Amino acid sequence: MEIAKNIARVQEQIEAAAKKSGRNSKDIALMAVTKTMPPERIREAYQAGLRLFGENRVQEFAEKSDYIADLHGARWHLIGHLQSNKTTKAATLFDAIDSIDSVRIAERIDSAAQKSGRSLRVLIEVNVGGESAKSGVAPVSSEFERILRAAPKLPALEICGLMTVPPFTAKPEDARQYFTVLRRIRDEVANRKLPNISMDELSMGMSHDFEVAIEEGSTCVRVGTAIFGARPKMESETAH
Ligand SMILES: *Cc1c(COP(=O)(O)O)cnc(C)c1O
Repeated sequence: MEIAKNIARVQEQIEAAAKKSGRNSKDIALMAVTKTMPPERIREAYQAGLRLFGENRVQEFAEKSDYIADLHGARWHLIGHLQSNKTTKAATLFDAIDSIDSVRIAERIDSAAQKSGRSLRVLIEVNVGGESAKSGVAPVSSEFERILRAAPKLPALEICGLMTVPPFTAKPEDARQYFTVLRRIRDEVANRKLPNISMDELSMGMSHDFEVAIEEGSTCVRVGTAIFGARPKMESETAH
């Protein structure tokens, strides 16, 4: 009940933020971030109508996946940092990888996907705040360029946009500058019309700042706490 209510509230907020910025809320996907959540809570979100889910860790999702395999039509995205020894597993478990942050990982995912006859939509993660504890390529960097240029040689990957986790800001409004930067980078890359790259997706905005992210053009908000409540702190989140 609680989860369904929370989802309804978040959807209303998405609607309002879209209206405020002259956008159609149909162009903004709501992703439920289910890290640390047991299968029963994930199932509740599914029953409330959600179909798009984000998990941070390959191993954690591998352990849960059998218990949620019956949720037809659900799509699972990896949104956390991917280690190179997990690429094969990731390429078979997930429908999309939203956190590509090196050409090496992109190549490994591509070859794993080819071997299992799959094709995967991926996003490039950009570290807009330049924080050393966060993953993602730097906005202007040789690694970012290398990923873009490698695209034609990655036939099993569809590079379709950018993702970011900006520095935590107490006031949501203070995150706007980072969302603006990501949108500008997206526009610049899109204008270059590079082969095998589309830049339709901008995955940005979390529980405390998704409304601002929508005003800045987000096409996918990744929401955990506002749907499931507070979760125990993970090591990867103590960087705040
Ligand atoms: C945990 C996480 C989220 C969701 O964060 P909330 O603040 O709980 O909404 C979104 N994106 C990524 C990459 C995350 O790790």
